[in-house]
Amino acid sequence: MQLKVLVLAGDGIGPEVTEQAIRVLRTVAAHGDHAFTFEDGLIGGAAIDAAGTPFPPATREAALASDAVFLGAVGHNKFNALPPSERPEAGLLALRAALGGFANLRPAFAHPALADNSPLRPAVIEEVDILFVRELLGGLYFGQPREWNRATNEAWNTMRYTRAEIERVARVAFELAGKRRKKLTSVDKANVLEVSQLWRATVNEVAKDYPEITVEHEFVDACSMHLMNNPRRFDVILTENLFGDILSDEAGVITGSLGVLPSATIGGQVDLFEPVHGSAPDIAGQGIANPVGAILTAAMLLRHSAKLEAEALAVEQAVRTVLESGARTKDLARGQQGTILSTQEMGTRVNDALIDVLRGQAESARLTGVTR
Ligand code: NAD
Repeated sequence: MQLKVLVLAGDGIGPEVTEQAIRVLRTVAAHGDHAFTFEDGLIGGAAIDAAGTPFPPATREAALASDAVFLGAVGHNKFNALPPSERPEAGLLALRAALGGFANLRPAFAHPALADNSPLRPAVIEEVDILFVRELLGGLYFGQPREWNRATNEAWNTMRYTRAEIERVARVAFELAGKRRKKLTSVDKANVLEVSQLWRATVNEVAKDYPEITVEHEFVDACSMHLMNNPRRFDVILTENLFGDILSDEAGVITGSLGVLPSATIGGQVDLFEPVHGSAPDIAGQGIANPVGAILTAAMLLRHSAKLEAEALAVEQAVRTVLESGARTKDLARGQQGTILSTQEMGTRVNDALIDVLRGQAESARLTGVTR
């Protein structure tokens, strides 16, 4: 298959972890004879330095002409004095708006090998595997009117959704639930907010098209509690923009390190893939960043843009194997004995494990006579 990927490595640890993610994509392409092409582009602080703006027109054009965009991270302390609209982070917001993705997918899972890294008890997080589907283009972040009226000392934002906006993201969530454990929890505040009542009614309408999916509704306050005391009860969590922002960060606690969390934003003109973490200026340039979040983001790209599910599973299996072998970057080591791996070394371990998994897949396909 052919896939044109725009690579926006960005700032800080962005280029370090992106290199390892692209490496596994190249391995998948070489193994399966896929024609993946990678073009580099500028965003964030790197773009300000080179082109005077965090989202140059050339980046916009290249992004819209690609099949998928892979982003490392943006942000650099040297731009902190600039107004928000000129800072590196503005480049990322402009990119997201240009691509138009409305469904932000954030997995939150417990790697058994990292159980001790979570502040939650191992018995609570065991086998947790949640997929957040967060609406990304509506709600309080974009609703009008919004204002800070300095004369009257009042400020307001508007949580506004149309039925169409709710329906399109709900369909993404139902489709994904159908490929998982077939349970969808829709999170709202329908006991107080009219917008949540519309949300709930729309989700119930869409649910009629997916009779195989078990649907439950939870208030956001209850959900935030259940995420900490019984996260295993969730499969897919569908929610609006602000609730999703808060709840998915809360669920990040389950994994125990920001460095291993992937994300994807789909539904727009071009899908966007980025690890959850930022540019980590405190460790940038030292070669110690954890590339696993970026590598698992590459797996999401294989799943959602390339439609190569077996290869996505192969990357995830490779990461599991490497973590189970005890390999640790500094953020995961927690005073453990043993060698602490650099970004590059961790990437090499995962890439080597991936080659083994892909060879195993090819061998079992040969034995069963299945060709893909
Ligand atoms: P951050 O995610 O960059 O870092 C938070 C902490 O986690 C730091 O201690 C960092 O060292 C650690 N960390 C993050 N990723 C890691 C990894 N892969 N391996 C090991 N440790 C890792 O968040 P922050 O410090 O709040 O923000 C730093 C900059 O990044 C800011 O400019 C912020 O605006 C930007 N940011 C960008 C994005 C993005 O590009 N998507 C997301 C969040 C923050």
